[in-house]
This record gives sequence, C-alpha cells and structure tokens, in this order.
Amino acid sequence: MSTIPAYAASSSTSPLAPFSIERRAPGPDDVQIDILFCGVCHSDLHTARNEWKNTLYPTVPGHEIVGRVSAVGAEVTRFKVGDIAGVGCMVDSCQRCASCAQDLEQYCENGFTGTYNGPVFGGENTYGGYSSRIVVRQKFVLRITHELQHLAAVAPLLCAGITTYSPLRQWGVGPGQKVGIVGLGGLGHMGVKIAAAMGAHVVLFTTSPSKVEDARRLGAKEVVISKDPAAMAAHANSFDFILNTVAAQHDLDPFINLLKRDCTMTLVGAPENRHPAPDVFGLIFKRRRLGGSLIGGLRETQEMLDFCAEHGIVSDIEMIAMDEINTAYERMLRSDVKYRFVIDMATLKG
Ligand code: NAP
Ligand code: ZN
Repeated sequence: MSTIPAYAASSSTSPLAPFSIERRAPGPDDVQIDILFCGVCHSDLHTARNEWKNTLYPTVPGHEIVGRVSAVGAEVTRFKVGDIAGVGCMVDSCQRCASCAQDLEQYCENGFTGTYNGPVFGGENTYGGYSSRIVVRQKFVLRITHELQHLAAVAPLLCAGITTYSPLRQWGVGPGQKVGIVGLGGLGHMGVKIAAAMGAHVVLFTTSPSKVEDARRLGAKEVVISKDPAAMAAHANSFDFILNTVAAQHDLDPFINLLKRDCTMTLVGAPENRHPAPDVFGLIFKRRRLGGSLIGGLRETQEMLDFCAEHGIVSDIEMIAMDEINTAYERMLRSDVKYRFVIDMATLKG
C-alpha cells in the first residue's frame, strides 16, 4: 500500500478539499499509473453532491484519466513502465456474465466496479482520478496512441468520448444521415466531432446562443437554439437519430417530434431530477423510440481511442489546477466551459 494525495468531498455540501488515500501495491495483473491529467465530467459533480443518492463518502471523483505507467505486475503483457495509458469509468467487472463475455463490461450483470464510488451493487468504495496515482488491472487500462502534446485533451475521450461514440455506433450513424446532438457540453462537443467524423450531417441543439459559432467549427452543419419553437418546428420529422446529452431535467417532446418514423432519440444525460414523461402520441404515431446508453465496454473504448487518433480528434479543453476544481464545478453548472475542464495533476500537492 502507498499513501498518496487526492481531492475529496466529505459530504454532499462540502467543497472538494485535499485528502489522502491508500492505493494497493500492484498485484501480478495490475498496472500502476502516475496520473498526468484528469478530465472533469458532470458525473463527478452529480456524485460529489450526491445527486444520484448513491454516493459513498469521502468521494474522490475523476474517470477521465491519462498517465504514465510507473510499475507493472509480473503477468502484465500489454504495458511496460513509461507507456502512456488511460483509465475510464470502470476498473473491474465480474468477467463471467453474458455481458462481460460480449465485451460489454458496462452492463456487467453482477455490477461493474466504478473508477470512483465503488461497485455499482455494493462493496468497498473506490477512489478516482483526482489523485496522483491509480492501480488498475490491465484489462481495464487503455492504450493511448495520440501524440504526446495532445495528452491533456485526450483525457476526456475516456468518458465523454466513449459515451457518445458507443450510441452513435450502436444506432448505425453514418454518411447520408441527419443526426442531432442535444447540448454542447463535454459529451455534446465530443458527439458533434465524432458524428461528423462518421460522415453524418450533424445538427447541434443548444440553449446557449454564444455557442453557435463554435458548434460549426466543431463540425455541426446546422445549429438550432432549442428554446425557439419556430426553429425547432422547421426540423420536424427529419432526423435519423438524436443523441441527448443534457445534464438537467427538460421536456423531451420537442426533440421526439423531430424524429422520422421508426427513429430513435437516445438519452445519455443523467440529471438529478427526472424528465417529465414524454407524450405517448409522439411515440405511437411514428413508431418512434426513446433509448438509453451507458459509457462503453473496454474493446469499444479502445476502438474509439484509435478512431479518434486516426481522425485527429481530441477534446477542446480548459486546463485547471487541482485547487480550482470547486470554481470549475460552479462554471460547469452555468454551461460556462469550452468544452471540458481538465486538471493538470502536476498541481496536486502532497
Ligand atoms: P456538461 O459539460 O455540463 O454539459 C451538459 C450540457 O447540457 C450543457 O453544456 C448545456 O448545453 C446543456 N444543459 C445544461 N443545463 C440545461 C438545461 N437546464 N436545459 C437544457 N440544456 C441544458 O455535462 P457532461 O459532462 O457533458 O455530462 C452530461 C450528462 O451526461 C450528465 O448528466 C452526466 O452525468 C451524464 N453522463 C452520462 C454518461 C452515460 O454513460 N450515460 C456518461 C457520462 C456522463 P447547451 O449550453 O449547449 O444548452
Ligand atoms: Zn463521465
């Protein structure tokens, strides 16, 4: 075991503050990573403030981790000391259920172990990437092939990247399709970039008029202010797929009405409070569907990282020091970040 510095919230109302945690010494199948950068996901904030009512305190958030391998166990074959490696939202799963057998560890029927906040179905707490080091079994460590100067901007791919890539692939997004991305935050801006790289005609829906120009630069062909009913109505019945990344409760019907017959809107945003139930007639009359999607499995996460490296895709980031995290959370709540905060872990003292 080693004692290392971290940042933790000790209750739903306390700001994050310096904290010490223990990391296990690497076992035979473990990779030890000295963390260079950690992205700041809205899920970190939901967890720190117990908005999903399942937080184990103290909580050390952070699941968009990029670092350098500093030790490996005797049985580790995929990594060596000095390699750059990534860790996303999971650090373990049962490895024997039907979902794990299909490389869908995020849907592990016995509950995957989150990088922070412990096993989904109970067990010991786990501590995430707002810390100087992490020890993870090799299966849950990702290879990073992006150029070294982009590493900070690669970190958000480990959650925001895979959470948008996976449903875009699952629902068969490609050339000739009109695809909507709702919300231009951390997930949404990755969704725009990835859907555009997949060849789709991307339309971005935002509540923030200040983001219109950016959305076009990021790859959207059209931008719609979602609070403008006339602008929304102009797109009725025209979308092949919509990916909704919004982090807050909102009315889904205006988006459902934009889908063509038999098409789907998939929700990845996980707000504290439920969305109002959708109007069933919007679904019934055109056999439309509402879906959901959770991050992505290890195989698909590696595929996404390789896809992004090949297409030159990274996140648009604002780098912060560790002690700026509480201000960053407040700004994230105001949608005031273009488009992902990333913590420079060299600023974590201790
Ligand atoms: P974020 O950076 O805060 O982005 C969320 C965006 O939602 C904002 O930028 C804003 O976009 C829009 N928004 C915020 N409040 C709104 C409101 N009241 N009405 C309409 N739009 C609003 O958050 P994120 O890190 O991308 O995460 C988004 C959500 O996905 C969070 O709930 C997070 O927990 C969840 N998540 C889910 C998974 C999964 O596996 N399913 C994985 C990671 C994260 P505009 O300014 O463009 O309107
Ligand atoms: Zn996340």
